[in-house]
Amino acid sequence: MSKGIIKDCRVCGKQFSTNSMKVSADIYSCPDCWGKNKQSALTKNLTEKMNRAVMSIETRLDKVEEANRMIPMIVNAELSNSMLSLNGLSGVDIKELITTELAEVKKELVEHQLDSIKIFQKKLQKQVITLNNKIIKIMQEMKE
Ligand SMILES: [Zn+2]
Repeated sequence: MSKGIIKDCRVCGKQFSTNSMKVSADIYSCPDCWGKNKQSALTKNLTEKMNRAVMSIETRLDKVEEANRMIPMIVNAELSNSMLSLNGLSGVDIKELITTELAEVKKELVEHQLDSIKIFQKKLQKQVITLNNKIIKIMQEMKE
């Protein structure tokens, strides 16, 4: 009937047969319990990995928000610097200077934001690929 050794499952108590007569001491649960245990460990591992990924994304979003809060301060500092060099200039020059200066600040801010968003997107893509590979690996392991 069976080519293996009959053992009692230490998890559910059911009797089960091992696949062969050569049995290592660490086989102590029936295939059902072993499978459930392995699956829950893998699920736990994946959940933890996803939680870590979400947490790091949240941290980065916080940094982007923090940078956005800094924008008015940066603009004010730039304007103060412009004001210091305004003495001796005519009204038209001043208006032109401020317009140019503001356009420059705006350009820098946009470039800065785009750079950090690009870096953020690249890291995010890498994480998604890593997670995806992990999920494929786990699905294959579960099928075995
Ligand atoms: Zn069992």
